[in-house]
Amino acid sequence: MSYIPYSNERIIAIYVRVSTEEQAKSGYSLADQLRRCKEKAGCTIVNEYIDDGYSGEFMERPALDELRNDLHKGLIKTVIVYDLDRLSRETDHLLILVKEIEKRAELIFVTNEYAKTPAGELFMTIHAAMAKYEKETIKSRTMRGKRQKALSGKLVFNDKAYGYNFNNEKSMYEVNLKEAEIVRLMFNTYIDRNYGVRSLAFELKAMGITNRLGKPFTISNIHRILSNEMYAGTKWSFKYYEKKVGQYKSERTIRDQSEWIPISVPVIVDVEIWMKVQAMLKQNMNFSKRNTKREYLLRGIIRCGSCGYSMIGSRKLIKDKEYLYYTCPSKMEKRECHNGTVRADKLDSNVWTYIENWSADGHDLNNLVTINSPTDNGMITKIREQINELNESKSEILYLIRKRKITIEEADNDIDIINKELNIANDTLNKLTKVEHPKTTVTHLDILNADTFEKRRKVILSLNIYIKAIRTGWKPENIDWGFE
Ligand SMILES: [Zn+2]
Repeated sequence: MSYIPYSNERIIAIYVRVSTEEQAKSGYSLADQLRRCKEKAGCTIVNEYIDDGYSGEFMERPALDELRNDLHKGLIKTVIVYDLDRLSRETDHLLILVKEIEKRAELIFVTNEYAKTPAGELFMTIHAAMAKYEKETIKSRTMRGKRQKALSGKLVFNDKAYGYNFNNEKSMYEVNLKEAEIVRLMFNTYIDRNYGVRSLAFELKAMGITNRLGKPFTISNIHRILSNEMYAGTKWSFKYYEKKVGQYKSERTIRDQSEWIPISVPVIVDVEIWMKVQAMLKQNMNFSKRNTKREYLLRGIIRCGSCGYSMIGSRKLIKDKEYLYYTCPSKMEKRECHNGTVRADKLDSNVWTYIENWSADGHDLNNLVTINSPTDNGMITKIREQINELNESKSEILYLIRKRKITIEEADNDIDIINKELNIANDTLNKLTKVEHPKTTVTHLDILNADTFEKRRKVILSLNIYIKAIRTGWKPENIDWGFE
């Protein structure tokens, strides 16, 4: 009755059945079932398995036996049946048959009418529950396997950790000499300089050190490397728990520490150095939390008196006290400029005092400085490039978050910094590209009343001025400045 084509292609099977009572009633004709199944198949080359005059109460039927044989031989890719009822009328038989077919082929019903009957509903419920149960069992079995592997001191999978190569046979890292050298450089430089991760990122960039993709290490990259205990020889497995919360989204939560499994891996950094860096990271973290808002009066309007680039705010912790500076970004851009970093608070107060005096003497605030219209197109181009670069790093970080390489918390600081820099760059660009400078609306009274940072900042920005500054001595307090 069935015919197997001489081919390696797996075939589409159609199973039809009609019982003797049904034959008599002639409602469920074989011809009708065959036609509907062939329509569903969408092609004419099918194998027909026909049980003519067999009850659905029993599993033993000649065509069904043959179909099951062919399934076991792996000859069939799809089984098409008119409805569940054709396969069997017994829920327990259905469970066996459907499971058996679905294990080896795709099972398609022409209609799901039967699923709406009580027996059909019961079958569907049990079938769904069994599928879920099996999935969970497989999941927990693989999880147990992974746990066993970790407990035996092997790495569970190759996470392509920086600094290492992965030995598949041993399921263990081997030190990648070139990358390990860079990891050590990060740890040592961080300790030597005693500055933030951000500055370290700039310094590494200036040194031309790049990641595997040939790009500078981002602040998140470096932070994750510096805080990873793996480099001191202990890799924590089963630290995170990934939970699917959507079709493509999953949430990573940290497991209870008792569940973590330590795995010994080759050491790249001495444990003492690693511990020291952790203490420093912690201190820097508290430090940046404590000072979320820093007051740079001249932010966005301060330029390097030597090269003309916008100076950026920087800070340093000296004996637990924070100092603010304006810095020419030349060094981090590997650009030649010999201007030094200047103390922000000194310059801010010098500029503010000058403006106060000018106002107190009754001078017109519009004559504070004669502002030349911008002609420096090189600078405008440079700022536009800078904006593009910042936007690129931002999308890179967002990509990493989406790819779940870093968490939102880890990237938060980077995004914050980038946004701030973007604001500054855009402000500066706006000011530079403005054709004419409007007359200031600032009054003498505004200046007299400006007793808070916010009020002074508002006045400074409304004056439409630019300040240029240059360091004149070996101390950051030695500053010469003027209007631009
Ligand atoms: Zn400069």
